[in-house]
Amino acid sequence: MSKGAEILENISLDIWDTLDELRFGYQHSPNYTLNPNSFSNKNDTGDWVMSCCPNHPETRASFGVSKEPPYHTNCFYCGYLGTLDVVVEIAFGLDEGEGIKFLLTDYIVDEVRAPLDIEGIISDGRENTKIPCLDENELTKFNYSVTENKWVHDVAMSYLINQRGMNIHTLNTYEIKIDVKNECIVFPQRTRTGELRFLQKRKIGNNYQGAKFINEGSPIKKDILFGLHFINKLRTSENRIRRVRMVESPLDAMSNYQAGIAAVATNGKILFRNQIRELQLAGVEVVDLFFDNDDAGRDATKNATKSLVKAGFIVNHTLYPPQFNKDSKVDSNDLLKLGWLDKLETKPVSLLGYKL
Ligand SMILES: [Zn+2]
Repeated sequence: MSKGAEILENISLDIWDTLDELRFGYQHSPNYTLNPNSFSNKNDTGDWVMSCCPNHPETRASFGVSKEPPYHTNCFYCGYLGTLDVVVEIAFGLDEGEGIKFLLTDYIVDEVRAPLDIEGIISDGRENTKIPCLDENELTKFNYSVTENKWVHDVAMSYLINQRGMNIHTLNTYEIKIDVKNECIVFPQRTRTGELRFLQKRKIGNNYQGAKFINEGSPIKKDILFGLHFINKLRTSENRIRRVRMVESPLDAMSNYQAGIAAVATNGKILFRNQIRELQLAGVEVVDLFFDNDDAGRDATKNATKSLVKAGFIVNHTLYPPQFNKDSKVDSNDLLKLGWLDKLETKPVSLLGYKL
């Protein structure tokens, strides 16, 4: 068994999600042409998740990954037997021992079965594994999209400005672009130090086919907080930002910025360990949590509170105005439009009777 497989023995991975991320990342693998369908066409057989094999061209899902550690793999077509860490090395052309770091850095799904020096392995992986970034051209190529299709461009801008209340300054600050060909609004997602990691594209309007969000670029995103690179830049200046409001979506973060509040977005309901680490490195000390005003948002708040307090942050909860009951769909953007976003009450978790 590989050393990586021994480590995987103690790790809980969600194989279904992991395959999605591998499929996404494979677009940028040097081995992409071998089988562009690699890790696609998934189906769940109970104990295994099937997808297309990265070892040869195929469109049928012959390649199984066991849902149980150490995540054995078995291809019914070519007979390949192995474990997931080795498959990652083959698919992405990585050196021996790099596959496990790749999986641990960004695919780990929180729970660890046995005490293990995850932080050590991850930080080690960080130094030795180069995480691919997007070329800036992938973003700046949209600068002239208005000349390509003025109609689509204007529909998107009207949505952002008239429906969402964004002003041009905010849109320029966050480098928001329009991909007229795919009819998407483009949110660039950068690392703490400013590298372009991936583009989050949101379909314009509600009459679209397929997914509302499409991501392009590196699949590695568990260390990304939207907007954090602005805060990181000020870290060593006299304008250092020690306190941020933490929200779920880029548009929420931009809304808060427009109301004069430093904000970062988690890009979802889960605050990952790698994101917390980046927050620390950016010099943040106080976090005001302001997730969505629904059950899932409250659940996310609870989990994020625990992780942040454990990591030594001062944690407050920003409260929705009492006018809105607990299932009203109101969010940062709605509150911006009402002019209330900068007038919300914030309470320390210690006063909220929180069980940690
Ligand atoms: Zn195969």
